[in-house]
Amino acid sequence: MTLRLLPPDLVNRIAAGEVVERPAAALKELVENSLDAGATRIAITLREGGKALIRVEDNGWGMVRDDLALAIQRHATSKLPEGDLTHITSFGFRGEALPSIGAVARLTVTSRARGCDHAWSIDVNGGVVGAVEPAALNEGTAIDVRDMFFATPARLKFLKTTRTESDYAHEVIERLAMANPQVDFTLTEDDRRPRRFPATTQDKTDVGDGLRHRLAAIMGDDFAKNAVPLALTRHGVSLYGYAGLPTLNKPTARDQYLFVNRRPVRDKVVVGAVRGAYGDLLPSGRFPMVALFIDMPFDDVDVNVHPAKTEVRFRDPALIRGVIVTGVREAIGHAAQWTTNSLTPALMTMMPAHYGVGGNPSERLGQLSEWMGDQKIAPISAFSSAGLSVRAPMGTLPGFLDKSMPMARDTTVEQPEAVSPIGRLGAAIAQLHNSFIVAQTPDGVIIVDQHAAHERMTYEGLKAAIESQGVKRQMLLIPEVIELGDTAAQRLIAHSEELCRFGLVVEEFGAGSVVVREIPAMMGKVDVKAMIRDLSDEIAEYDDARGLKDRLYEIAATMACHGSVRAGRSLNTAEMNALLRQMESTPNSGQCNHGRPTYVELKRSDLEKLFERR
Ligand code: ADP
Ligand code: MG
Repeated sequence: MTLRLLPPDLVNRIAAGEVVERPAAALKELVENSLDAGATRIAITLREGGKALIRVEDNGWGMVRDDLALAIQRHATSKLPEGDLTHITSFGFRGEALPSIGAVARLTVTSRARGCDHAWSIDVNGGVVGAVEPAALNEGTAIDVRDMFFATPARLKFLKTTRTESDYAHEVIERLAMANPQVDFTLTEDDRRPRRFPATTQDKTDVGDGLRHRLAAIMGDDFAKNAVPLALTRHGVSLYGYAGLPTLNKPTARDQYLFVNRRPVRDKVVVGAVRGAYGDLLPSGRFPMVALFIDMPFDDVDVNVHPAKTEVRFRDPALIRGVIVTGVREAIGHAAQWTTNSLTPALMTMMPAHYGVGGNPSERLGQLSEWMGDQKIAPISAFSSAGLSVRAPMGTLPGFLDKSMPMARDTTVEQPEAVSPIGRLGAAIAQLHNSFIVAQTPDGVIIVDQHAAHERMTYEGLKAAIESQGVKRQMLLIPEVIELGDTAAQRLIAHSEELCRFGLVVEEFGAGSVVVREIPAMMGKVDVKAMIRDLSDEIAEYDDARGLKDRLYEIAATMACHGSVRAGRSLNTAEMNALLRQMESTPNSGQCNHGRPTYVELKRSDLEKLFERR
């Protein structure tokens, strides 16, 4: 047997499998190179989803003649000045992308360095390097990649349809565009609509309109309208971006855009923290929409984990988790009393079909205005004194509503004692189908799902009890002994005080074991061993007892669901108003425990639109 070194073009071809597994991956490398070169304008052209052509042109600082020849050699990079792997500030650093692409495709690199009077160009065709030749180009760099994988037919076979490859490529550009709003991107492709992301002038950590616009262009207007900005810095880690309201949830995590030092990541610490931050505001199996950017010292994060660099390694994962959970919670906490307004358009298209009244829009408006209008409705003086003109129905509502339908029983003027002033949910006017409360606000109508709303409030109440008085405990008939190993047992014992607050009494029990004597009374039948094992793992990872808390919250949620005002119960005006006032003061009251909205709002202008008045 003879040992020999692999020839360089073979090494490059092997490496290419890792670095550029598909056209979108090559595109990502090229655009990152442009960003590394300080480009403020990047134009991308694709043909057949990048299979036939990828062209990336930038206005970065370019390369001089000698650098061109070096750039396409393996492990040639300008980005590791001191050869220091712990301080990586640029996207590239391995010096692998260009040679790998050149090994499997037809690569042309043309570049004109700043201040040079013309450009130079070099070709690499399936690993065969050509000569450096003069060329014409403005300052910057243009890279053409043609016939991806022509040199490796086996790989060529694994490419997907043009549409699929093109989707991957678009996704790459979207993520890079989100993370670099100060750069102007254009993406042109055969038969797809060209896309342009104009540069914003803002500072990159400014969560103002510039970022919002760019996110809207990529994640949709719905997101831009139903997301809250956040920005905080803690221990040198800054987190900024937008977090979607919990009611704007999705069945997959696809709409979670996460970045670390402007790199798109899919890191499990970050993903887990986002999940944790939304916690019980989302039902299981639903995912929030977020665009979050973490900027942190380059020394505290290792990006050298995987060639595609979507995974990173944090020096202090607990810190990162803490920052995300705090930042996102705070942002959506302030906002969670709102409900997503994206329901309004859906409602608007739905509503006419459900009127059950025929006639033209003006007839319908007539009926509605009778309902809402002055003639048949007497003011409630108690509420008028709050500075609002609020009306309560006298008798049944004409026409628009079924006459036989039971209305709020108490239609006379209410003078509830010690009633809190009317807040943003307005004053109750009627109850529909014993399930929905209709309230009037100064500029619109609120419709509340009474069961969903009550459920949320019961649940928040239980949570508050857990937080303040601690949880009732029950003794186990037979204490449960659990073997965990020394470290894990010690770690759990170190948290025993906290666990006790949540109703879990755990003590040391010889080497590497713990004994559980009491569990939360509300817990009923539970696999104590499995729970303790999970808890111990979670404590190891995040150093808090969130696992148990979440579990308790889940139980609280179930109890809340059973203990709440069912749909179908008739409520009087005072009860309805009490519910509305309670909702106003309850955190997260914009959605029920299952992530559905608890109320929808129609503005007066929406109503007018509905009747084609606008
Ligand atoms: P890396 O980015 O890891 O350094 P690459 O193979 O992607 O490796 O690129 C090699 C080198 O070529 C870079 O270090 C850089 O000096 C140069 N280069 C590549 N693309 C550009 C560009 N668009 N503008 C200026 N220089 C570039
Ligand atoms: Mg690179």
